[in-house]
This record gives sequence, C-alpha cells and structure tokens, in this order.
Amino acid sequence: MRPFTYERAKDPIEAARIVASRPGARFLAGGTNLLDLMKIQVETPTHLVDIQDLDLEKIEATKEGGLRIGALVTNTALASDERVRRDYGVLARAIVAGASGQLRNKASTAGNLLQRTRCPYFYDTNMACNKRTPGTGCAALGGASRQLGIIGVSSSCIANFPGDMPVALRLLDAAIETVDPEGQHRSIPIADFHRLWGETPHIETALRPGELITAVTLPAPVGGKHFYEKVRDRASYAFALVSVAAVIQPDGTGRVAFGGVAPKPWRIEQAEALLPQGAAAVTARAFQGATPTKANAFKLPLATRALASVIAQAKA
Ligand code: SF4
Repeated sequence: MRPFTYERAKDPIEAARIVASRPGARFLAGGTNLLDLMKIQVETPTHLVDIQDLDLEKIEATKEGGLRIGALVTNTALASDERVRRDYGVLARAIVAGASGQLRNKASTAGNLLQRTRCPYFYDTNMACNKRTPGTGCAALGGASRQLGIIGVSSSCIANFPGDMPVALRLLDAAIETVDPEGQHRSIPIADFHRLWGETPHIETALRPGELITAVTLPAPVGGKHFYEKVRDRASYAFALVSVAAVIQPDGTGRVAFGGVAPKPWRIEQAEALLPQGAAAVTARAFQGATPTKANAFKLPLATRALASVIAQAKA
C-alpha cells in the first residue's frame, strides 16, 4: 500500500472542499472496495477524508411518500428497515443478494453506487487497462471476458458494473442527492448517474470533482410483486453473471432492470412495456444492439430465462 494521509471530516461541505482542493484526495466511507484496491495499488489516493462522523445515517420518510436514505446507511440497515422490506422488496432482496453479511454490515449506500468493476485485468497492474491507466489499452478485448459486459460497452472498455443494489434503485427511479465544494446541492436521477464507458472508461459517474453523495431518495412505492433474481457461478458471495430486478403488477405490466450486463444498471423503458408479451419480447428489445464476446454471449439467453422465471413466479 502506498503512504497516504488521513483525516475525519466534520461537515459535508468541508469534506467536499478538502477532496476538491487536494490532488489525489478521496472520500472514505465503509471502505469495503476502496481499501481492497489500495492494498493492490490499483487505487493510490494521497489523502483520505473519512466521512463516518457526518450525520448521514438516517432513513426518513419524504413528504412525497417515499424514503430518503442517508449516504452512510449500511447495506444491512437498509435491507432490514421495515419500510424497505414492506414497500421496496426488490431493494431489500437485491441488497441481501450482494457480498456477504460481514461486508454488508460495513458497506454504505453511497459506496455501493460507486463500487468499481471486477474485471480481472483492472485488478492486475501488470495488464493493460484503460480504466485503471487511461490510454494503455484493454487486455479484456481478446482476453477472458466471460464475466464482462454485453451492451453499452465500447472498444475502450467492455467491463460491467458489478453491483446489485443499484439495479433495484434504477428500477425504483431513485435519485442521488449531492453537495459540492461551494455548498450547492443537486439531485441526479439514477438513470443519469452511471456513465457508459465510451472513450473515457476511467470516468464512471456524473459526479464532479469533490462532489459528495449525501443521500439517495426513493419515490413513493409502486406496489406490485417484487423480485430480484441473480444468476451467478456459486450460490453466495459472487457477482452476477446476469441479474433481473422486476416489479410485476397484477395485470402483467411492470418494470424490469438487468444487472451484470452493462456499465450501468440496464433498464430500457420501451422494453419493459413489452412485459405482457413475455420474456423473449422484453430481452429482444432491451438487448438490441448488444455486442457480446464469444465468451459471454451466453448472457443473452440467460437474461431471457431469468426474466421468464420471474414472470412465472409472478403468475404463481
Ligand atoms: Fe480495463 Fe475495462 Fe479493459 Fe477491463 S474491460 S481491462 S476494466 S479497460
């Protein structure tokens, strides 16, 4: 691990100012991804601004009938919140499908949105990786790509976003609240939060330098039956090959988002409008223009089968 300095921020705007003004400074929340990456020198921050003393650990009802989830609410606290379990079942299910109990006790709501890809070449500093070191190339092209993305990827990077919770947040039309170093607050729809890689795969979100996530807001509950189906190589503590988050209404309409397939939670609203026609119709539209490799083309039929399973459960 490279040497770094450390401080604990007392105020969100102060934290944002420090990170914006010190080259190489980073926020530290649960640290479940960042510290791992620091140990192998994929991340080499010069200064860590620990935000754990900020008052960002509450889950509160909003006047619009939704919930405001503080950035530091742990995954365990969020998944076990009575209101989340009752009204946002897909979110609780997605969270408990991710990582391990130990990690969920520490991982934060904001950090979950910001976790880095698990592309094996990103973690190996001997390999070319445009995301880790811009302009060096992409070892995954022509390499091991079974786990990686099939749509929304580019010739610069074919990595996928690894998370589960953000797939459910996308389904629920969550918004990300932030504060910047000037004290300006903004709300970013989750659809706009994660970027497609294009030619700059090292820029992963819409956050500006020093901008700090303070909360995630959920609109009022949408009803229906909630599902999170995660297909992976082993039953626990593994990232999704494909996941399906869905809310299905009694008339067969609903919402669908996919994980494990793209640089961001993948939801195409025109595709979910085809839900009454069945899984194949939805995935044909959702994955129109997909560019899988030979090694991960299996994700296309897998997505259809996972969604068919969800639809069958909804009818049962
Ligand atoms: Fe790096 Fe992306 Fe290529 Fe993986 S797919 S090696 S993360 S540039």
